[in-house]
Amino acid sequence: QSKTFENGSPRKNLVILGTGWGSVSLLQELDTTLYNVIIVSPRNYFLFTPLLPSTPVGTVNVKSIVEPIRSIIRRTKGSVVYYEAWATDIDPQNKQITVKSVFPGEQEDIKTIDYDYLVLSIGATSTTFNIPGVSENAIFMKEISDSEKVRSKIMKTIEKASFLPRDDPERRKLLNFLVVGGGPTGVEFAAELQDFIKQDLKKIMPEISQDIKVSLIEGLPNILNMFDKKLIDYTEKFLINEDVDLKLNTMVKKVNPDSIIAKCKGEEIELPYGVLVWSTGIKPQQLTLDTMKKLDEQTERRGLLIDDKLRLLGAQDSIFGIGDCTFHPGFVPTAQVAHQEGQYLAKTFQKLYEIDQLKWEQEQPNADINSIKTNIDKIESSIVDFKYAHMGSLAYIGGDKAIMDLNIAGAQYRLSGGNFVFWFWRSVYLSMCVSLRNRVLVTADWVRTFVFGRDSSV
Ligand code: NAD
Repeated sequence: QSKTFENGSPRKNLVILGTGWGSVSLLQELDTTLYNVIIVSPRNYFLFTPLLPSTPVGTVNVKSIVEPIRSIIRRTKGSVVYYEAWATDIDPQNKQITVKSVFPGEQEDIKTIDYDYLVLSIGATSTTFNIPGVSENAIFMKEISDSEKVRSKIMKTIEKASFLPRDDPERRKLLNFLVVGGGPTGVEFAAELQDFIKQDLKKIMPEISQDIKVSLIEGLPNILNMFDKKLIDYTEKFLINEDVDLKLNTMVKKVNPDSIIAKCKGEEIELPYGVLVWSTGIKPQQLTLDTMKKLDEQTERRGLLIDDKLRLLGAQDSIFGIGDCTFHPGFVPTAQVAHQEGQYLAKTFQKLYEIDQLKWEQEQPNADINSIKTNIDKIESSIVDFKYAHMGSLAYIGGDKAIMDLNIAGAQYRLSGGNFVFWFWRSVYLSMCVSLRNRVLVTADWVRTFVFGRDSSV
């Protein structure tokens, strides 16, 4: 793409950091012919996170929920440059970022990139609340590498336990599978794990399947706190009925290599484990923290403060923030919010392009400065605030059951269990996939699991 348009005006640099929900929805909606678009991310694919908890036990394959960023770029109108690199520094004064290739040593591995507009959509990382031993001993549920680690740990632990006599205490310990955090990620993963044990392991290793205990540990009095109380009650009863050991009011305080220490109703308890999966929410990335320090207006620890037009406080003229790396009192860090923010920004960049064109015309000889200024004002005032439309929440809870808390045209629809909700959950997730390829692969995985079951190899 040439650096100028046909009329000689400069094409501005739009740099997007990240390849998650926010960036990809922005990229899909953006007219990429209007800017020099550069994407920087160490992950060269988009990951469909809502189905990540289905992957460790093999209900869905990891490759089915991944879309290469190069394929997404190929489907845009203009040309887009992608660097597989970490952004390591942002300099808001000089409008410049520093990036470091993920392949150090093989080439010049550090670059600086000038931007006119920068979109921060770098997501967040798993939080441990600084609880000792979590990073060393637990496995998170955030990235593909986590899912692969969880799968390997589960399958190896099962084989290790099956080597021991049934009454061996070590075998009992190994077969305690703990999931810490009763948010949607923890619940969906515990549900998938129990499906694997009850539907597949039962056929191939009946004794082991009887002896495995899946515990879901939550510090608060209830799981899934963002859902309606009726749906929470239904899910809790359902999980207990499915033999998930639900430990509520149980706050983990320390993690040892083979046990956790938790506070439960004022008492300290120790729970041994063979597999420990940690999903207690998210915290800001290092680059987010570093950027906050550079701007006096950034006074919130939970994420980068943005205004109602998704502009970063302290750098409103050039930096935008979307998704889990940001904090705004009106929005929660979910895929749905990030997706809508990306779509909104695509429209904003269309208008910013029009404004930049007019500003360039203003500087040309014999320009009708006043009439151009009126037009600029008109376009500026047409950039309305971002309004999040909450469509509702869905979660899979195991045994072909899901819950839904939908908001359609202001009306609330809360349903749990039943075939309709399960198939509705599946169809919504399919429709949210970013490509036809993903939809076909996920559907094929569901059919494969239904017909042949999940496989237990590592
Ligand atoms: P979360 O923040 O929703 O839940 C984490 C849970 O861990 C909380 O209930 C918290 O009380 C508990 N917890 C924290 N510290 C603990 C401790 N030491 N011991 C025991 N329990 C502890 O996290 P998540 O499930 O990873 O979700 C992250 C975000 O993504 C949320 O905003 C969520 O709504 C969203 N999400 C939504 C869906 C869906 O709608 N289906 C699916 C996945 C994620």
